[in-house]
Amino acid sequence: MPAEIDIAVIGAGAAGIGAATRLAELGRSCLVLEAGPRVGGRAYTESEGLGTPFDHGASWLHVAEHNPLTPIARRLGFTLREGERRRRDILLIGDRRATPEEKAAHDAACDAWEEAAEARAAQGGPDVSIAEAVPHGGFWDATVSHWLGTTICGVEPERNSLRDYIDTGLDGENPQIAEGFGTLVARLAAGLPIRLGTPIERIRADRAITLEGPRGSLRARGCIVTVSTGVLAAGGLRFEPGLPTEIEAAIHGLPLALLSKIGLRGGQGLGFRLGLGPFARLGRRLEGEGDHPMSWMIAPFGRDHAVGFLGGEAAWALAREGPAAAEAFARADLTRYFGPAEVARAFPDRAVPTDWGENPLFRGAYTYARVGAAGSRAVLAGARLADGRIRFAGEACHTRYAGTVGGAWASGMAAAEALSATLGG
Ligand SMILES: Cc1cc2nc3c(=O)[nH]c(=O)nc-3n(C[C@H](O)[C@H](O)[C@H](O)COP(=O)(O)OP(=O)(O)OC[C@H]3O[C@@H](n4cnc5c(N)ncnc54)[C@H](O)[C@@H]3O)c2cc1C
Repeated sequence: MPAEIDIAVIGAGAAGIGAATRLAELGRSCLVLEAGPRVGGRAYTESEGLGTPFDHGASWLHVAEHNPLTPIARRLGFTLREGERRRRDILLIGDRRATPEEKAAHDAACDAWEEAAEARAAQGGPDVSIAEAVPHGGFWDATVSHWLGTTICGVEPERNSLRDYIDTGLDGENPQIAEGFGTLVARLAAGLPIRLGTPIERIRADRAITLEGPRGSLRARGCIVTVSTGVLAAGGLRFEPGLPTEIEAAIHGLPLALLSKIGLRGGQGLGFRLGLGPFARLGRRLEGEGDHPMSWMIAPFGRDHAVGFLGGEAAWALAREGPAAAEAFARADLTRYFGPAEVARAFPDRAVPTDWGENPLFRGAYTYARVGAAGSRAVLAGARLADGRIRFAGEACHTRYAGTVGGAWASGMAAAEALSATLGG
Protein backbone atom coordinates (compact mmCIF):
# COMPACT_ATOMS: atom_id res chain seq x y z
CA MET A 1 0.00 0.00 0.00
CA PRO A 2 1.17 3.58 -0.53
CA ALA A 3 2.10 5.22 2.79
CA GLU A 4 -0.02 8.33 2.35
CA ILE A 5 -2.97 9.43 0.24
CA ASP A 6 -5.52 12.24 0.17
CA ILE A 7 -8.82 10.39 0.66
CA ALA A 8 -9.42 6.71 1.41
CA VAL A 9 -12.72 5.10 0.55
CA ILE A 10 -13.46 1.82 2.31
CA GLY A 11 -15.50 -0.55 0.18
CA ALA A 12 -15.96 -0.77 -3.60
CA GLY A 13 -19.73 -1.23 -3.72
CA ALA A 14 -22.01 1.31 -5.36
CA ALA A 15 -21.42 3.88 -2.59
CA GLY A 16 -17.63 3.57 -2.74
CA ILE A 17 -17.65 3.75 -6.53
CA GLY A 18 -20.01 6.75 -6.44
CA ALA A 19 -17.74 8.46 -3.91
CA ALA A 20 -14.60 7.80 -5.94
CA THR A 21 -16.33 9.02 -9.12
CA ARG A 22 -17.34 12.29 -7.46
CA LEU A 23 -13.91 12.76 -5.87
CA ALA A 24 -12.31 12.40 -9.30
CA GLU A 25 -14.75 14.99 -10.70
CA LEU A 26 -13.74 17.32 -7.85
CA GLY A 27 -10.08 16.84 -8.69
CA ARG A 28 -9.34 14.91 -5.48
CA SER A 29 -7.01 11.93 -5.38
CA CYS A 30 -8.39 8.89 -3.62
CA LEU A 31 -7.87 5.18 -3.19
CA VAL A 32 -10.70 2.70 -2.75
CA LEU A 33 -9.81 -0.19 -0.45
CA GLU A 34 -11.94 -3.27 -0.99
CA ALA A 35 -11.68 -6.39 1.13
CA GLY A 36 -13.19 -8.75 -1.42
CA PRO A 37 -11.88 -10.05 -4.75
CA ARG A 38 -14.25 -8.00 -6.93
CA VAL A 39 -15.95 -4.62 -7.19
CA GLY A 40 -19.71 -3.97 -6.97
CA GLY A 41 -20.46 -5.26 -3.47
CA ARG A 42 -24.12 -6.19 -3.24
CA ALA A 43 -24.55 -5.44 -6.96
CA TYR A 44 -22.99 -8.59 -8.39
CA THR A 45 -23.68 -10.29 -11.71
CA GLU A 46 -22.29 -13.76 -12.24
CA SER A 47 -22.74 -15.76 -15.46
CA GLU A 48 -21.16 -19.15 -14.87
CA GLY A 49 -23.64 -20.83 -12.55
CA LEU A 50 -26.73 -20.41 -14.71
CA GLY A 51 -24.94 -19.93 -18.03
CA THR A 52 -26.49 -16.47 -18.33
CA PRO A 53 -26.18 -13.22 -16.32
CA PHE A 54 -27.57 -13.79 -12.82
CA ASP A 55 -27.76 -10.93 -10.35
CA HIS A 56 -27.00 -12.41 -6.94
CA GLY A 57 -27.89 -9.07 -5.36
CA ALA A 58 -29.63 -6.05 -6.87
CA SER A 59 -31.51 -6.56 -10.11
CA TRP A 60 -34.24 -3.88 -10.26
CA LEU A 61 -33.48 -0.28 -11.12
CA HIS A 62 -35.97 0.93 -8.53
CA VAL A 63 -37.88 4.15 -9.14
CA ALA A 64 -36.15 4.38 -12.48
CA GLU A 65 -37.59 7.81 -13.27
CA HIS A 66 -35.65 9.32 -10.31
CA ASN A 67 -32.78 6.87 -10.09
CA PRO A 68 -29.42 8.55 -10.84
CA LEU A 69 -28.23 5.34 -12.48
CA THR A 70 -30.99 5.23 -15.11
CA PRO A 71 -29.56 7.89 -17.43
CA ILE A 72 -26.08 6.45 -16.91
CA ALA A 73 -27.25 2.94 -17.83
CA ARG A 74 -28.96 4.26 -20.96
CA ARG A 75 -25.95 6.33 -21.99
CA LEU A 76 -23.69 3.29 -21.64
CA GLY A 77 -26.03 1.26 -23.85
CA PHE A 78 -27.42 -1.13 -21.22
CA THR A 79 -30.71 -2.86 -22.02
CA LEU A 80 -33.53 -1.98 -19.61
CA ARG A 81 -36.62 -4.10 -19.57
CA GLU A 82 -39.37 -1.65 -18.72
CA GLY A 83 -42.59 -2.03 -16.80
CA GLU A 84 -41.91 -4.78 -14.27
CA ARG A 85 -45.22 -5.99 -12.90
CA ARG A 86 -45.86 -7.16 -9.36
CA ARG A 87 -48.90 -9.34 -9.86
CA ARG A 88 -48.75 -13.13 -9.98
CA ASP A 89 -49.08 -15.14 -13.17
CA ILE A 90 -49.73 -18.24 -11.11
CA LEU A 91 -51.12 -18.03 -7.61
CA LEU A 92 -51.65 -21.28 -5.73
CA ILE A 93 -54.18 -21.93 -3.01
CA GLY A 94 -53.13 -25.24 -1.53
CA ASP A 95 -52.44 -27.40 -4.56
CA ARG A 96 -54.76 -25.69 -6.98
CA ARG A 97 -54.43 -22.52 -9.03
CA ALA A 98 -56.44 -19.50 -7.92
CA THR A 99 -59.31 -18.47 -10.17
CA PRO A 100 -59.26 -15.02 -11.82
CA GLU A 101 -61.67 -13.80 -9.11
CA GLU A 102 -59.40 -15.09 -6.35
CA LYS A 103 -56.39 -13.47 -8.02
CA ALA A 104 -58.28 -10.18 -8.20
CA ALA A 105 -59.07 -10.48 -4.48
CA HIS A 106 -55.38 -11.11 -3.78
CA ASP A 107 -54.38 -8.04 -5.80
CA ALA A 108 -56.98 -5.94 -3.97
CA ALA A 109 -55.55 -7.18 -0.64
CA CYS A 110 -52.08 -6.03 -1.78
CA ASP A 111 -53.46 -2.57 -2.52
CA ALA A 112 -55.33 -2.47 0.80
CA TRP A 113 -52.14 -3.45 2.65
CA GLU A 114 -50.17 -0.56 1.11
CA GLU A 115 -53.02 1.88 1.65
CA ALA A 116 -53.42 0.91 5.31
CA ALA A 117 -49.68 1.39 5.91
CA GLU A 118 -49.75 4.81 4.26
CA ALA A 119 -52.89 5.89 6.10
CA ARG A 120 -51.51 4.90 9.50
CA ALA A 121 -48.20 6.67 8.84
CA ALA A 122 -50.07 9.79 7.71
CA GLN A 123 -51.75 9.94 11.15
CA GLY A 124 -48.36 10.81 12.63
CA GLY A 125 -47.70 9.99 16.29
CA PRO A 126 -45.11 7.55 17.60
CA ASP A 127 -43.58 5.04 15.20
CA VAL A 128 -45.14 1.58 15.14
CA SER A 129 -44.30 -1.65 13.38
CA ILE A 130 -45.67 -2.29 9.90
CA ALA A 131 -47.58 -5.22 11.39
CA GLU A 132 -49.54 -2.85 13.62
CA ALA A 133 -50.75 -0.86 10.64
CA VAL A 134 -51.77 -3.45 8.05
CA PRO A 135 -54.90 -5.62 7.78
CA HIS A 136 -55.11 -8.97 9.57
CA GLY A 137 -57.48 -11.88 9.42
CA GLY A 138 -58.64 -11.63 5.81
CA PHE A 139 -58.20 -14.57 3.42
CA TRP A 140 -55.09 -13.05 1.80
CA ASP A 141 -53.73 -10.79 4.57
CA ALA A 142 -51.03 -13.09 5.98
CA THR A 143 -49.89 -13.96 2.44
CA VAL A 144 -49.66 -10.30 1.47
CA SER A 145 -47.67 -9.49 4.64
CA HIS A 146 -45.36 -12.37 3.81
CA TRP A 147 -44.83 -11.08 0.28
CA LEU A 148 -44.76 -7.26 0.68
CA GLY A 149 -43.22 -7.39 4.16
CA THR A 150 -41.09 -10.42 4.90
CA THR A 151 -39.98 -11.15 1.32
CA ILE A 152 -39.50 -7.73 -0.24
CA CYS A 153 -38.30 -5.98 2.94
CA GLY A 154 -36.37 -9.09 4.03
CA VAL A 155 -37.70 -8.83 7.58
CA GLU A 156 -40.95 -9.69 9.34
CA PRO A 157 -43.34 -6.69 9.49
CA GLU A 158 -43.45 -7.04 13.31
CA ARG A 159 -39.84 -5.77 13.49
CA ASN A 160 -39.84 -3.19 10.73
CA SER A 161 -40.47 0.52 11.34
CA LEU A 162 -43.59 1.82 9.60
CA ARG A 163 -42.14 5.34 9.50
CA ASP A 164 -39.00 4.17 7.70
CA TYR A 165 -40.96 1.87 5.38
CA ILE A 166 -43.09 4.79 4.20
CA ASP A 167 -40.21 7.29 4.05
CA THR A 168 -38.14 4.97 1.86
CA GLY A 169 -41.00 3.45 -0.19
CA LEU A 170 -40.11 2.41 -3.72
CA ASP A 171 -42.92 3.28 -6.08
CA GLY A 172 -42.55 3.95 -9.80
CA GLU A 173 -40.89 2.12 -12.68
CA ASN A 174 -38.76 -0.93 -11.88
CA PRO A 175 -36.91 -2.11 -14.98
CA GLN A 176 -34.29 -4.85 -14.84
CA ILE A 177 -30.99 -4.71 -16.70
CA ALA A 178 -30.43 -7.50 -19.23
CA GLU A 179 -26.65 -7.44 -18.86
CA GLY A 180 -27.01 -7.44 -15.05
CA PHE A 181 -27.06 -4.66 -12.46
CA GLY A 182 -23.68 -5.84 -11.20
CA THR A 183 -22.28 -5.53 -14.71
CA LEU A 184 -23.39 -1.88 -14.78
CA VAL A 185 -21.82 -1.09 -11.40
CA ALA A 186 -18.58 -2.87 -12.37
CA ARG A 187 -18.50 -0.78 -15.54
CA LEU A 188 -18.80 2.38 -13.44
CA ALA A 189 -15.75 1.28 -11.47
CA ALA A 190 -13.56 0.97 -14.57
CA GLY A 191 -10.55 3.27 -14.40
CA LEU A 192 -11.01 4.20 -10.73
CA PRO A 193 -8.14 3.67 -8.26
CA ILE A 194 -9.34 0.53 -6.48
CA ARG A 195 -7.28 -1.95 -4.52
CA LEU A 196 -8.96 -5.36 -4.18
CA GLY A 197 -8.20 -7.91 -1.48
CA THR A 198 -7.41 -5.14 1.00
CA PRO A 199 -9.54 -5.44 4.15
CA ILE A 200 -9.38 -2.58 6.62
CA GLU A 201 -9.76 -3.64 10.25
CA ARG A 202 -9.11 -0.44 12.17
CA ILE A 203 -9.36 3.31 11.62
CA ARG A 204 -7.37 5.53 13.94
CA ALA A 205 -8.03 9.23 13.94
CA ASP A 206 -5.55 11.72 15.37
CA ARG A 207 -3.77 14.32 13.30
CA ALA A 208 -4.06 12.00 10.30
CA ILE A 209 -6.47 9.18 9.60
CA THR A 210 -4.66 5.84 9.76
CA LEU A 211 -6.20 2.75 8.20
CA GLU A 212 -4.89 -0.61 9.28
CA GLY A 213 -5.36 -4.09 7.94
CA PRO A 214 -3.44 -7.29 7.24
CA ARG A 215 -1.93 -5.74 4.12
CA GLY A 216 -0.38 -2.87 6.02
CA SER A 217 -1.35 0.60 7.07
CA LEU A 218 -2.05 3.79 5.23
CA ARG A 219 -2.43 7.44 6.22
CA ALA A 220 -5.03 9.67 4.67
CA ARG A 221 -6.39 13.18 5.21
CA GLY A 222 -9.97 11.96 5.05
CA CYS A 223 -11.93 8.75 4.82
CA ILE A 224 -15.35 7.58 3.60
CA VAL A 225 -16.63 4.36 5.17
CA THR A 226 -19.12 2.45 3.02
CA VAL A 227 -19.18 -1.03 4.59
CA SER A 228 -22.65 -2.27 5.56
CA THR A 229 -24.13 -1.53 8.97
CA GLY A 230 -24.12 -5.32 9.43
CA VAL A 231 -20.32 -5.29 9.14
CA LEU A 232 -20.06 -2.28 11.45
CA ALA A 233 -22.39 -3.77 14.08
CA ALA A 234 -20.40 -7.02 14.05
CA GLY A 235 -17.17 -5.12 14.75
CA GLY A 236 -15.74 -5.79 11.27
CA LEU A 237 -14.22 -2.32 11.35
CA ARG A 238 -13.03 -0.78 14.62
CA PHE A 239 -12.62 2.92 15.33
CA GLU A 240 -10.13 4.68 17.59
CA PRO A 241 -11.36 6.66 19.41
CA GLY A 242 -14.58 4.63 19.65
CA LEU A 243 -17.74 5.76 17.93
CA PRO A 244 -19.97 8.30 19.70
CA THR A 245 -23.02 6.76 21.35
CA GLU A 246 -25.51 8.24 18.89
CA ILE A 247 -23.60 6.78 15.93
CA GLU A 248 -23.45 3.35 17.61
CA ALA A 249 -27.19 3.63 18.23
CA ALA A 250 -27.85 4.58 14.60
CA ILE A 251 -25.84 1.58 13.36
CA HIS A 252 -27.76 -0.76 15.65
CA GLY A 253 -31.03 0.89 14.63
CA LEU A 254 -30.38 -0.14 11.02
CA PRO A 255 -29.75 -3.90 10.96
CA LEU A 256 -29.46 -5.87 7.77
CA ALA A 257 -32.52 -7.73 6.54
CA LEU A 258 -32.08 -10.82 4.43
CA LEU A 259 -33.42 -11.61 1.00
CA SER A 260 -31.94 -14.78 -0.47
CA LYS A 261 -32.22 -15.92 -4.07
CA ILE A 262 -31.88 -19.39 -5.47
CA GLY A 263 -31.26 -19.70 -9.19
CA LEU A 264 -32.26 -22.90 -10.97
CA ARG A 265 -30.87 -23.52 -14.41
CA GLY A 266 -33.45 -24.94 -16.80
CA GLY A 267 -33.28 -26.80 -20.09
CA GLN A 268 -33.91 -24.98 -23.34
CA GLY A 269 -37.33 -23.46 -23.84
CA LEU A 270 -38.07 -23.47 -20.12
CA GLY A 271 -40.81 -20.83 -20.17
CA PHE A 272 -42.47 -22.47 -23.14
CA ARG A 273 -42.27 -25.85 -21.50
CA LEU A 274 -43.90 -24.64 -18.29
CA GLY A 275 -46.50 -22.75 -20.31
CA LEU A 276 -45.25 -19.35 -19.10
CA GLY A 277 -44.06 -16.16 -20.80
CA PRO A 278 -40.88 -14.25 -19.87
CA PHE A 279 -40.65 -12.85 -16.33
CA ALA A 280 -43.58 -15.00 -15.13
CA ARG A 281 -44.32 -14.52 -11.41
CA LEU A 282 -45.38 -17.37 -9.15
CA GLY A 283 -46.56 -17.26 -5.58
CA ARG A 284 -48.76 -19.25 -3.25
CA ARG A 285 -51.03 -18.61 -0.33
CA LEU A 286 -49.37 -18.92 3.06
CA GLU A 287 -50.62 -21.98 4.92
CA GLY A 288 -50.15 -20.83 8.48
CA GLU A 289 -47.23 -20.59 10.91
CA GLY A 290 -44.12 -22.41 9.80
CA ASP A 291 -44.98 -22.11 6.11
CA HIS A 292 -42.53 -19.94 4.15
CA PRO A 293 -43.59 -19.73 0.52
CA MET A 294 -40.95 -18.57 -1.94
CA SER A 295 -41.71 -16.06 -4.67
CA TRP A 296 -40.63 -17.13 -8.13
CA MET A 297 -39.64 -15.45 -11.33
CA ILE A 298 -39.49 -17.83 -14.26
CA ALA A 299 -37.55 -17.19 -17.46
CA PRO A 300 -36.46 -13.57 -16.87
CA PHE A 301 -35.64 -12.01 -20.27
CA GLY A 302 -36.93 -15.28 -21.76
CA ARG A 303 -33.82 -17.05 -20.41
CA ASP A 304 -33.79 -20.66 -19.33
CA HIS A 305 -33.67 -20.26 -15.60
CA ALA A 306 -35.88 -19.58 -12.62
CA VAL A 307 -35.14 -17.46 -9.56
CA GLY A 308 -36.74 -18.14 -6.18
CA PHE A 309 -36.82 -15.46 -3.47
CA LEU A 310 -37.05 -16.00 0.27
CA GLY A 311 -36.80 -13.32 2.96
CA GLY A 312 -36.75 -12.87 6.73
CA GLU A 313 -36.09 -15.42 9.46
CA ALA A 314 -36.65 -18.39 7.14
CA ALA A 315 -33.94 -17.04 4.84
CA TRP A 316 -31.49 -16.60 7.75
CA ALA A 317 -32.21 -20.15 8.91
CA LEU A 318 -31.64 -21.57 5.44
CA ALA A 319 -28.45 -19.51 5.01
CA ARG A 320 -27.10 -21.14 8.18
CA GLU A 321 -27.99 -24.61 6.89
CA GLY A 322 -26.03 -24.14 3.66
CA PRO A 323 -26.47 -24.45 -0.10
CA ALA A 324 -27.74 -28.05 -0.22
CA ALA A 325 -30.59 -27.23 2.18
CA ALA A 326 -31.43 -24.10 0.18
CA GLU A 327 -31.63 -26.09 -3.03
CA ALA A 328 -33.83 -28.78 -1.47
CA PHE A 329 -36.12 -26.09 -0.04
CA ALA A 330 -36.43 -24.35 -3.41
CA ARG A 331 -37.15 -27.56 -5.31
CA ALA A 332 -39.79 -28.55 -2.78
CA ASP A 333 -41.48 -25.17 -3.13
CA LEU A 334 -41.47 -25.31 -6.93
CA THR A 335 -42.80 -28.86 -6.82
CA ARG A 336 -46.03 -27.40 -5.42
CA TYR A 337 -46.62 -25.81 -8.82
CA PHE A 338 -45.38 -28.38 -11.31
CA GLY A 339 -44.94 -31.68 -9.47
CA PRO A 340 -41.66 -33.50 -8.73
CA ALA A 341 -41.14 -35.08 -12.14
CA GLU A 342 -41.50 -31.85 -14.09
CA VAL A 343 -39.24 -29.93 -11.66
CA ALA A 344 -36.55 -32.62 -11.93
CA ARG A 345 -36.86 -32.60 -15.75
CA ALA A 346 -36.99 -28.80 -16.12
CA PHE A 347 -34.10 -28.13 -13.72
CA PRO A 348 -31.58 -30.96 -14.00
CA ASP A 349 -28.54 -28.96 -12.84
CA ARG A 350 -27.32 -27.88 -9.43
CA ALA A 351 -28.88 -24.70 -8.04
CA VAL A 352 -27.05 -21.41 -7.47
CA PRO A 353 -27.96 -19.99 -4.04
CA THR A 354 -26.78 -16.57 -2.91
CA ASP A 355 -24.78 -16.19 0.31
CA TRP A 356 -25.41 -12.63 1.55
CA GLY A 357 -26.43 -13.75 5.03
CA GLU A 358 -23.29 -15.77 5.73
CA ASN A 359 -20.77 -13.57 3.95
CA PRO A 360 -18.79 -11.56 6.56
CA LEU A 361 -18.26 -8.73 4.06
CA PHE A 362 -22.01 -8.00 4.00
CA ARG A 363 -23.93 -9.89 6.76
CA GLY A 364 -27.27 -9.49 5.03
CA ALA A 365 -28.99 -7.94 2.03
CA TYR A 366 -30.10 -4.41 2.88
CA THR A 367 -31.07 -2.37 5.92
CA TYR A 368 -34.40 -1.94 7.61
CA ALA A 369 -35.02 0.35 10.58
CA ARG A 370 -36.06 -1.02 13.94
CA VAL A 371 -39.31 0.42 15.24
CA GLY A 372 -38.53 3.93 16.52
CA ALA A 373 -35.20 4.12 14.67
CA ALA A 374 -36.35 5.73 11.41
CA GLY A 375 -34.19 8.79 12.13
CA SER A 376 -31.01 6.69 12.18
CA ARG A 377 -30.38 7.09 8.46
CA ALA A 378 -30.06 10.86 8.76
CA VAL A 379 -27.82 10.48 11.84
CA LEU A 380 -25.43 8.20 9.95
CA ALA A 381 -25.48 10.31 6.79
CA GLY A 382 -24.76 13.45 8.80
CA ALA A 383 -22.07 11.95 11.06
CA ARG A 384 -18.86 13.98 11.12
CA LEU A 385 -16.23 11.98 12.94
CA ALA A 386 -12.79 13.46 13.56
CA ASP A 387 -13.98 16.99 12.73
CA GLY A 388 -15.70 15.80 9.56
CA ARG A 389 -12.66 13.95 8.18
CA ILE A 390 -14.46 10.58 8.47
CA ARG A 391 -17.87 10.19 6.84
CA PHE A 392 -20.27 7.33 6.31
CA ALA A 393 -21.94 6.44 3.02
CA GLY A 394 -23.91 3.50 1.68
CA GLU A 395 -27.48 2.39 1.20
CA ALA A 396 -28.20 2.69 4.95
CA CYS A 397 -27.42 6.41 4.79
CA HIS A 398 -29.97 7.38 2.15
CA THR A 399 -33.10 8.84 3.74
CA ARG A 400 -35.25 8.37 0.63
CA TYR A 401 -33.79 5.50 -1.45
CA ALA A 402 -32.32 3.35 1.33
CA GLY A 403 -31.70 -0.27 0.42
CA THR A 404 -31.02 0.49 -3.23
CA VAL A 405 -28.01 0.77 -5.50
CA GLY A 406 -29.09 4.21 -6.68
CA GLY A 407 -29.38 5.36 -3.05
CA ALA A 408 -25.95 3.95 -2.21
CA TRP A 409 -24.41 5.66 -5.24
CA ALA A 410 -26.02 9.01 -4.39
CA SER A 411 -24.95 8.76 -0.75
CA GLY A 412 -21.35 8.08 -1.83
CA MET A 413 -21.45 11.16 -4.04
CA ALA A 414 -22.86 13.29 -1.20
CA ALA A 415 -20.21 12.06 1.25
CA ALA A 416 -17.48 12.85 -1.28
CA GLU A 417 -18.75 16.40 -1.66
CA ALA A 418 -19.05 16.94 2.08
CA LEU A 419 -15.59 15.54 2.81
CA SER A 420 -14.00 17.51 0.00
CA ALA A 421 -15.56 20.71 1.38
CA THR A 422 -14.26 19.89 4.87
CA LEU A 423 -10.71 19.26 3.67
CA GLY A 424 -10.65 22.43 1.59
CA GLY A 425 -7.84 23.16 -0.87
C1 LIG B 1 -30.52 -10.20 -2.72
C2 LIG B 1 -30.47 -8.71 -2.88
C3 LIG B 1 -31.38 -8.10 -3.74
C4 LIG B 1 -31.35 -6.72 -3.91
N1 LIG B 1 -32.20 -6.15 -4.82
C5 LIG B 1 -32.04 -4.85 -5.13
C6 LIG B 1 -32.68 -4.31 -6.28
O1 LIG B 1 -33.40 -5.02 -7.00
N2 LIG B 1 -32.48 -2.99 -6.57
C7 LIG B 1 -31.65 -2.20 -5.80
O2 LIG B 1 -31.49 -1.02 -6.13
N3 LIG B 1 -31.01 -2.70 -4.73
C8 LIG B 1 -31.17 -4.01 -4.39
N4 LIG B 1 -30.45 -4.55 -3.38
C9 LIG B 1 -29.68 -3.66 -2.48
C10 LIG B 1 -28.39 -3.13 -3.12
O3 LIG B 1 -27.68 -4.19 -3.68
C11 LIG B 1 -27.59 -2.44 -2.04
O4 LIG B 1 -28.40 -1.46 -1.41
C12 LIG B 1 -26.35 -1.70 -2.59
O5 LIG B 1 -25.68 -2.47 -3.56
C13 LIG B 1 -25.43 -1.39 -1.41
O6 LIG B 1 -24.28 -0.72 -1.84
P1 LIG B 1 -23.25 -0.17 -0.76
O7 LIG B 1 -22.13 0.44 -1.52
O8 LIG B 1 -23.96 0.67 0.23
O9 LIG B 1 -22.74 -1.43 0.06
P2 LIG B 1 -21.96 -2.74 -0.43
O10 LIG B 1 -22.38 -3.11 -1.79
O11 LIG B 1 -22.12 -3.74 0.65
O12 LIG B 1 -20.44 -2.25 -0.52
C14 LIG B 1 -19.59 -2.25 0.60
C15 LIG B 1 -18.28 -2.90 0.21
O13 LIG B 1 -17.43 -2.90 1.36
C16 LIG B 1 -16.64 -4.08 1.32
N5 LIG B 1 -16.13 -4.33 2.67
C17 LIG B 1 -16.77 -4.88 3.74
N6 LIG B 1 -15.99 -4.89 4.82
C18 LIG B 1 -14.81 -4.33 4.44
C19 LIG B 1 -13.59 -4.03 5.13
N7 LIG B 1 -13.43 -4.32 6.42
N8 LIG B 1 -12.57 -3.43 4.43
C20 LIG B 1 -12.73 -3.12 3.11
N9 LIG B 1 -13.86 -3.39 2.42
C21 LIG B 1 -14.90 -3.97 3.08
C22 LIG B 1 -17.60 -5.14 0.83
O14 LIG B 1 -16.91 -6.25 0.29
C23 LIG B 1 -18.41 -4.36 -0.22
O15 LIG B 1 -17.85 -4.52 -1.52
C24 LIG B 1 -30.42 -5.93 -3.19
C25 LIG B 1 -29.50 -6.55 -2.35
C26 LIG B 1 -29.51 -7.92 -2.21
C27 LIG B 1 -28.45 -8.56 -1.35
